[in-house]
Amino acid sequence: MNLSFPLEKIIGLGTITAKKLKQLGLYKIEDLLFYFPFRYDDFSRQAKISELQPGEVANVTGQIELIQNKRSPRRRMYLTEGLINDGTETLRVLWFNQPFLTRNLKPGDKISLAGRVSEDYLGLLMTSPQYEKLTSQAIHTQGIVPIYHLISTLTQKGLRNAIAKVVSLADQVIDWLPAEVIKNNHLLPLNQAIKAIHFPANNQVLQQAKTRLGFDELFLMQLRAQQQKQNLAQLQAQPLKFFEDETKALVESLPFTLTASQKRSAWEIIQDIATTKPMLRLLQGDVGSGKTIVAGLAIFNTVLNKKQAALMAPTEILAFQHFKTFSQFFKQLDLTMALLTNGYQLLFKQGEKISNKKEINRLLAQGQIDFIIGTQALIQTGLAFNNLALAVVDEQHRFGVEQRQLLTQKVDRGSAPHLLSMTATPIPRSLALAIYGELDISLLEDMPVGRKKVLTKVITEDKRQSAYDFIAQEIKDGKQAFVICPLIDESDKLGLKSVKQEFERLDKTIFKNYKIGLLHGKLKSAEREKVLTEFREGKLNILVATSIIEIGIDIPRATVMMVEEADRFGLAQLHQYRGRVGRREDQGFCFLMAGDNNQLNHRLDAMTKFNNGFELAKVDLKFRGPGEVYGLEQKGFPELKMANFYDVNLISQTRLACLDLLKVDPKLTNYPLVKQRLGEFKKQAHLE
Ligand code: ADP
Ligand code: MG
Repeated sequence: MNLSFPLEKIIGLGTITAKKLKQLGLYKIEDLLFYFPFRYDDFSRQAKISELQPGEVANVTGQIELIQNKRSPRRRMYLTEGLINDGTETLRVLWFNQPFLTRNLKPGDKISLAGRVSEDYLGLLMTSPQYEKLTSQAIHTQGIVPIYHLISTLTQKGLRNAIAKVVSLADQVIDWLPAEVIKNNHLLPLNQAIKAIHFPANNQVLQQAKTRLGFDELFLMQLRAQQQKQNLAQLQAQPLKFFEDETKALVESLPFTLTASQKRSAWEIIQDIATTKPMLRLLQGDVGSGKTIVAGLAIFNTVLNKKQAALMAPTEILAFQHFKTFSQFFKQLDLTMALLTNGYQLLFKQGEKISNKKEINRLLAQGQIDFIIGTQALIQTGLAFNNLALAVVDEQHRFGVEQRQLLTQKVDRGSAPHLLSMTATPIPRSLALAIYGELDISLLEDMPVGRKKVLTKVITEDKRQSAYDFIAQEIKDGKQAFVICPLIDESDKLGLKSVKQEFERLDKTIFKNYKIGLLHGKLKSAEREKVLTEFREGKLNILVATSIIEIGIDIPRATVMMVEEADRFGLAQLHQYRGRVGRREDQGFCFLMAGDNNQLNHRLDAMTKFNNGFELAKVDLKFRGPGEVYGLEQKGFPELKMANFYDVNLISQTRLACLDLLKVDPKLTNYPLVKQRLGEFKKQAHLE
């Protein structure tokens, strides 16, 4: 067996498991080795049963004296009861609804258990502990046990068993990091780090493994950023003159006054684009802080310079919304604007539709389109601009690094466009440096005047009706509500709510006197537009939607955001949802439906405590690990699986190591392995 050995051919793994692993994107042994856990259960305390204390988490081993299934009298539930003896004492064990256990576990078997010890009137017991028969080395119940992200019906045990079968092959993984870098930074060799990340002998080794693997990720990122910087330094941009009077007039015509940080950011951008050095600036501001208008002022000056501007948004819905906003914003100008997504190719002049043919390509190349708004279609269709001078990327964390680059590589007449990226994701400055090299940041720190905090509540099942009553009251006041569900169609396996089901239920029963719309990704562009327009115009009271609504959508009268299965979402994502309501003077409300598990939900509670994305990202980091903080869809940094965004020390350590290496060998000529790994890293980022 070698690293590229296909998983389905591993003896004893089973074709079903191999199939499930494929659903996780794991095809060969190497994939499995690099599928890292996101957290661990610490079962390193091995205890004698006689020493157990109620409340502690421990591992015990012993012999099964008795095991039997029962029907619980009150609830229709199976109980499996066992008695385990380790020579010191007998321990009671209870499992719920796993009657198949008695097929596998028999009296006399030696067994290892791990879990929390509790106490009732009969004495100590363990409820639903992890268990494994002691036929070989215990990997599920002893020591520090890895927990992986899973989908479908694959179990932690299934995945752990698969990894245990191949983990020794980590010795075949080639360590691409130069020996001197490993030595200077006191890092573990790669093969040891991989073994330890799956099955750590102790906490110290685990920490070392995390550091090594995190180092690798950050190191590659830094290398890529430095290379980009080198490339960019060779290019020139078109200087864009500042039209001061026109800009002032436009700002005065707005229905609101700009906040101090909007003014400052706009000014920073306007100064940047007036030079021949390509701008590379990130505009960071929490949800609702008013980034669009800031970009709008830069775009305004670009078109007055008779140069082209482009704005790329992650979803068609958002592109369409921007198109409407900007049509309004620029209505006094004699402009030709285009909207290009997979669903739309529209051309407008002074707000009037002039064509919807696929003329965009021709006109853009001739310089007859001043401003184009679109989705990824802008970079996918091989568009040629005539004199693109400013490229704006909205919600930039939704795009891969390479996608953003593609837009800036539209070099026209020998010059590169200025780039403005916008995001609500709070990226620490140190990380921004790692990702983008020398990037400038403008920060929107203050919210528009009069904006209120969205009141957020975690709602348990028994309070559901009062939440509905509240929504009905808001609707009577002319307000609107969103209801978000995680899935489009029903899923028996996961038992999650689907939008279609929920739409039916609300439409037919709960809110049968109101108008409800349904929005999800499988609808055609025209249908989506229709629903959204109706909602925006107030013809619909409630919109039931999937995560499609998450980003950027601006509905003035929406005040309630109800999120079903809220625990399924990342906090940054929930914060985005919440940002959809209370966007004017009205008080906004966010209801996080927590199901009927009565456990304290600390993650969701954080939503009620914190009102800014940065704090929430930190909380999520604690509960879900770095890979989850920004959600899987956040393509800006999918490659960061191990490194911690807030680990400023590691980030600056890798930065120094990277700069050192490039100082000695800027083209990495003597480091073919690093070069190769960097190539794979870029390709990987590109495919994601
Ligand atoms: P985001 O930063 O999330 O992209 P938007 O640019 O969509 O936010 O702005 C949110 C809403 O706030 C929009 O309806 C916009 O018109 C409005 N807005 C922007 N700036 C201000 C301001 N200074 N005062 C009041 N409302 C503003
Ligand atoms: Mg926005």
